[in-house]
Amino acid sequence: MRLWRRMRAFVGFAIAATLQVWVVLEVAEGADRLIDDSRAVAQSQSILEAVRSAYAEVRDAEASQRGFLLTGSEDLLVEFYSAQANVGPRLQQLTDAIGDDAEQANRVQLIGRLAFERVRLLDGIAAVGRTQGLEAAQAELVLSDGAPLMERIAQLVYEIESSERERLGQRRERSRQAAERLRTVAAGGIATSLAVLALVFVLLAAENRERRRAQAAEAQARDRLEAGLRSLQRASQELRELSRFAGALQRCRSEDEAIALSRDALAGLLPELGGSIYLAGEAGPALQRRARFGRPIAASADLIAPTDCHALDSGQNHLVRSLSGPERCAHFGPTAPGQTVASLCIPLSAQGRQLGLVAISGSTQGDEGLSGLDLASAAAEQLSLCLSNLQLQESLRAQSIRDPLTALFNRRYMEEALAREIERCRRESRPLALAICDLDHFKQVNDRYGHDGGDALLRAFARLLQETARRRDIACRFGGEEFVLILPDTDADAAQRRLEHLRLAVRTLRVQQHGLELAPATASFGLAALGPGMAGGEDLLRAADGALYRAKAAGRNRVELAGGGEPAEPAG
Ligand code: GH3
Ligand code: MG
Ligand code: MG
Repeated sequence: MRLWRRMRAFVGFAIAATLQVWVVLEVAEGADRLIDDSRAVAQSQSILEAVRSAYAEVRDAEASQRGFLLTGSEDLLVEFYSAQANVGPRLQQLTDAIGDDAEQANRVQLIGRLAFERVRLLDGIAAVGRTQGLEAAQAELVLSDGAPLMERIAQLVYEIESSERERLGQRRERSRQAAERLRTVAAGGIATSLAVLALVFVLLAAENRERRRAQAAEAQARDRLEAGLRSLQRASQELRELSRFAGALQRCRSEDEAIALSRDALAGLLPELGGSIYLAGEAGPALQRRARFGRPIAASADLIAPTDCHALDSGQNHLVRSLSGPERCAHFGPTAPGQTVASLCIPLSAQGRQLGLVAISGSTQGDEGLSGLDLASAAAEQLSLCLSNLQLQESLRAQSIRDPLTALFNRRYMEEALAREIERCRRESRPLALAICDLDHFKQVNDRYGHDGGDALLRAFARLLQETARRRDIACRFGGEEFVLILPDTDADAAQRRLEHLRLAVRTLRVQQHGLELAPATASFGLAALGPGMAGGEDLLRAADGALYRAKAAGRNRVELAGGGEPAEPAG
């Protein structure tokens, strides 16, 4: 079918060309035939002319001879001889004109013989007339009786003429038919070839139209393919960015780092949109803004209560195509009139715990501009995982260095920190003091208020240590009801003053347990300052422990300085 479509124009041209060639050949052949026919007609006419003129010469000879015999005029005799002389050439002309037509040639030969016979008779009479007189010639004329001869000649001339006329008629008819045929062939052939050419033209035009349509369809398909390819390339680029982002998140060591990374990634993934990242903080259940990215169209609040966001409420992404509608989250501010602003809130959560929120907004037309939201969702999921991991790490780290009851550092951390601080203070030639604090008669608290009561007092004392500590101080639970306070950059005097304050503060502690207030507690403090003879933390601890022992021995509720001589009197 396709081959035929491709070949049909060619076949059409071939048919038209064949018709034209046929017409040309027919016309050429017809023209040759016409030329032959007209030549034959001319030949017939020249035969007719020749036969007439030959016959006329014989007749002229006879007439001029008769005139001579009647009048004796020498002029007529001259005319007779002239006509007599012309008979031969005229007959020769006739023979030439007839050519190889045997039947006509026989007739001409016969005419020739008869004409010469007649001329010979007339010549004899003329000779008698010249020699014997006109009367004798007239008698001779009567005697010779040439009439039958002339009749026979006339009969033959008639036969030649009618034969030639008949042929002439036939040739004219043939010429007419040939011309007619030529006209039919030329008109029919040219008309047919024109029709074939017109058909070919129509077919070519249709084919051209079809080709243009096919080209347009092909261009459309190519455009679609290129658009698909571009979108694939974009998608693969976005996926690469997302995977780079996920990899970078895994290397994050802090929330701040993760937030900064997410802010940049979201700005890259959503070039047309903008938004904020919120995290749950210490400020109660409300989420706090930690970063902004891109160009948000609708302002979002700095603090978001869980009830102000449908996404936080449902734990699901909340997409709003127009912020002027009722589905809008309350934390988004008003939008400019006549502007279509869409929003997407993505909750950040892991293992059922709410970690934060990504709130995105942007001016959109239809779904344009929202194409990156799936990626944003995926990025937010990665951020949730990262935050959850960081929190887990933080909790594990805290568990490893903190005492679970009081949340103070544990003994293991204290020993590391002490070694570090001693080294730093020695390096910087700074003083360092260390105190061991021990609650007095704590066993009795346990006995009186139960273990829970004892725990409550331990927590209250730990809180007091934390609250009175400076930024660089390190408070830790040493074990049981004993605590260690490392005081970097503090000399013995300053440390003693601070411990005195602390000792007094212990007395003011008010601890409630099951609605019952515990009796006021006291604590004893053994203080030691880092001295040149001390090898490290163990020596310092041993010295402080010794001082504590002395404080206990001296009656408790006091501060004793290692190497400070006699224990001081309790301050009361
Ligand atoms: P002193 O004034 O000499 O220090 O007497 P004390 O009773 O405070 O000291 P002692 O060493 O005799 O008793 C310490 C008690 O602390 C013994 C132990 O049962 C109790 N204790 C140790 N750890 C905890 C704890 O985590 N919680 C509670 N409630 N009690 C604890
Ligand atoms: Mg003790
Ligand atoms: Mg004690």
